[in-house]
Amino acid sequence: MADAARERRIVEDVPKKLLIGGRERDATDTRTFPVEDPSTGEILCEVADASPEDGMAALDAAARAQADWAATAPRERGEILRRAFEMIIEQSDEIAMLMTLEMGKPLAESKAEITYAAEFFRWFSEEAVRITGEWRTNANGNGRVLVMRQPIGPCLLITPWNFPLAMGTRKIGPAIAAGCTMVIKPAALTPLTILKLADILTKAGLPEGVLNVVTTKSTGRVMGPLIADGRIRKLSFTGSTEVGRTLIEQSAQQVLKTSMELGGNAPFIVCADADVDAAVEGAMLAKMRNIGEACTAANRFYVHADVAEEFTKKLVDRMGSMTIGRGVDEGVEVGPLVEADQRDKVAELVDDAVQKGAKVRTGGQVPSGAGYFYPPTVLADVPTSARLVKEEIFGPVAPVFTFTEDEQAVRAANDTEFGLVSYLYTKDLQRAIRLSERLEAGMVGLNQGMVSNAGAPFGGVKQSGLGREGGDVGIDEYLEIKYVALTV
Ligand code: NAP
Repeated sequence: MADAARERRIVEDVPKKLLIGGRERDATDTRTFPVEDPSTGEILCEVADASPEDGMAALDAAARAQADWAATAPRERGEILRRAFEMIIEQSDEIAMLMTLEMGKPLAESKAEITYAAEFFRWFSEEAVRITGEWRTNANGNGRVLVMRQPIGPCLLITPWNFPLAMGTRKIGPAIAAGCTMVIKPAALTPLTILKLADILTKAGLPEGVLNVVTTKSTGRVMGPLIADGRIRKLSFTGSTEVGRTLIEQSAQQVLKTSMELGGNAPFIVCADADVDAAVEGAMLAKMRNIGEACTAANRFYVHADVAEEFTKKLVDRMGSMTIGRGVDEGVEVGPLVEADQRDKVAELVDDAVQKGAKVRTGGQVPSGAGYFYPPTVLADVPTSARLVKEEIFGPVAPVFTFTEDEQAVRAANDTEFGLVSYLYTKDLQRAIRLSERLEAGMVGLNQGMVSNAGAPFGGVKQSGLGREGGDVGIDEYLEIKYVALTV
């Protein structure tokens, strides 16, 4: 069993106030809101609940710090990130416990996220000193073109609850490296991990005002005025497509540059020539990473009829034998979903598919007792009219469909408004390239069930978003290009 005293101490150690201009301060009227443990439904602690005035104070601090920060040596910016990277790794056991307590996923999953999240700081610590420009002679030989890349200015970063640390470091890392100041608003369900990260960055030497943290339950009321304020020069959002659309509309007023990492509906295609065992292994990762609460989660499995029963049976064996429980307990592989609404939505999607004719091969029932648990579930014979064909499940449910022609699989895979990631299993190299080119997605997992990598450009097409995070291009989202024309 987990050690309750250690859990309490780890939660107690996190600053719970707003971080504005380098100072931890209460919200207006010392308002707070509760953070819950989804495995028990109990309250872990209270954190500051910012008002619109607090949000504006955070922007004031970011705007004040911008000029000095932009002028800080790139090496210094990089070294702060590098120190923070090392501190995150040193404290990974405690951060993992914190993340599991507020978000629910098993400790092993939290540790994997921390490794992934910290890597963005290491990657961008190296990118900070490699911001380049251009110099060229005019085509007519008379003049010169000088191109420089400069920090875009104060940024507003809004992050979701499903990867509480990585969705923050993927934005904070390049913003620091580029020389931008920022206001970050973590999800109200999981504010503690970002508050802990902010504390680490302060201890790593980040100057006051560069990172300001606003936790709030009045999200729209606090974020709206910031988006409308001309001093914010960039909005980077990760979350649902629905909220993303609203934020794009709001950003239009200031013609604000936006990055949008939005929802997914990933197809997972298994061709007749695939290594079925490898495909099942990949499916477990693509489906069960983060208990299915990932934008990259495989949402629809399209399996060739020749291997469909073998694949489904092996997947059922693996999914049906997973250990469910509190994420902090030893040996647990499946924790609770993040909140009751999320669990109810998953149950509703499964019930809808079953009513329309899908067969439950494992799982499919909400267990009794405390916490927001839902068991790993495999559905076969799923009709295409089921809601989960179009909607993001965001839970541990794998619907399996069959196909006989590649063309049929590609058409079904692309028949969605989303386009974040597609997974493809085949041993035939030509088929792999042909289908990868035709899949409408920002990323393809080719014979692998995970695409997340700090060194690669992460992002989607269609309604899965705008822009890329990570890789060589990740820092570009935080830089503005300026061209100087000169005569010589
Ligand atoms: P969400 O409901 O869209 O919330 C995301 C963030 O936006 C939260 O911080 C939320 O604050 C904030 N927000 C909500 N309404 C807002 C408003 N009117 N103005 C400004 N901010 C607002 O998404 P979620 O449920 O946290 O996350 C799950 C979604 O994120 C899924 O669709 C998933 O696919 C997507 N996601 C995408 C990626 C990617 O890289 N493409 C990665 C991870 C997750 P509150 O917490 O206060 O509501």
